[in-house]
Amino acid sequence: MEQDRAITTNAPFGGVSLRKVEREAPADGQALLSTVETGICGTDRGIVSGALGFSYNPAGRDYMVLGHECIARVASADGEGLRKGDYVVPATRSGGGCLNCLVGRPDNCSDNDRHDAGVTGKDGFMRDSFVYSTSDLVKVNDESVADVAVLTEPMKNVMKVFDSLSHITKLSVYHGKDGTLRSRRALVVGTGCEGFLFSMMASDAGYITQIVNRHDISERQKRILDTFDVDFADYSRPGALQGEGVDLLVDTSGDPAALLGMLRHVRPNGVAVCFGTNENVAPASMSGGDIINIVEKNIVVLGSVDGSKKHYMDAVRQLSAWRKCRPDAMKQMITGRFRPENTGILLARQPGEIKSVISWQ
Ligand code: NAP
Ligand code: ZN
Repeated sequence: MEQDRAITTNAPFGGVSLRKVEREAPADGQALLSTVETGICGTDRGIVSGALGFSYNPAGRDYMVLGHECIARVASADGEGLRKGDYVVPATRSGGGCLNCLVGRPDNCSDNDRHDAGVTGKDGFMRDSFVYSTSDLVKVNDESVADVAVLTEPMKNVMKVFDSLSHITKLSVYHGKDGTLRSRRALVVGTGCEGFLFSMMASDAGYITQIVNRHDISERQKRILDTFDVDFADYSRPGALQGEGVDLLVDTSGDPAALLGMLRHVRPNGVAVCFGTNENVAPASMSGGDIINIVEKNIVVLGSVDGSKKHYMDAVRQLSAWRKCRPDAMKQMITGRFRPENTGILLARQPGEIKSVISWQ
């Protein structure tokens, strides 16, 4: 039996090692895939540091292969119109038996009977090759997007939120007098990869967009945001926030103090999206006035997790469009490429990092 290199952990205790695992053989309805690149995010590092208590190994195992952000090439496949050499992105979540899962929306799973690759009870993609159900693969039709398609998994979360917004913003008149969002304002809290993608998408949708953190960011990061007409502000500095209030707030920090503070800036009929999660952050309290603010302004507070196969497809299309019209900025989103042997990259975030990736080929 041939063997693959794989980056593994022992969830929920953590740790990281590069080990050999058996190369799998595809069954009916499965494809064999060669991994091209895997992205690293805060969830991977949280599992490795033992901070994510909800993470667990596949049944009967004392290890799990890490990684849920991936671009791979088909080595062999039967079905779904896939051919050898095609670029694909695997959808990470496998559903269970609830109604949402049964209709292809495991992102809205209602009984928690589901598994996320590299996170909860299912091997991830940080290995030389893997087999995967062909129905859970999203084909990347435009090969020129392959060098940034590792961003598809984080981007599909953004596409789901904008899909939800297209429904929520019908509750009142949300757009401006010209029928567009060009007079509307979006505020994104947090400058990680998800914050970047949310702010780029908001600007693309027409919002006057600001992204904030409570410290400065690198010049390279600012240049990318500039390309997308997104304004950055360090909100620890007085007067940094644009004054007029916002119609869309997206919190990627998971910090309740930041979220509650920013919620006070949301205008009537606005939407506040809770996206970031962080269990290890200080609690914050809400006043009666905060609740009155939400009630009297008809503010929708939306929690959103993951995305469906359709959102992966939307994400590939959006990345492909950006890769064509802003190629340099898009390439700059990948701030470092590393070899699998360099497992230290899973221990700490790199200075100025947007997306660090591991190259497998
Ligand atoms: P990330 O790189 O850790 O980004 C989080 C950002 O929030 C960082 O820039 C961090 O700043 C900033 N931040 C933390 N506290 C803040 C505060 N009080 N005010 C302003 N900014 C603050 O993570 P990511 O990959 O972009 O993901 C963003 C969040 O979404 C994470 O919490 C992740 O767990 C979560 N997530 C959710 C989903 C979902 O489906 N809902 C999917 C993927 C990820 P520093 O530079 O100071 O650290
Ligand atoms: Zn379910």
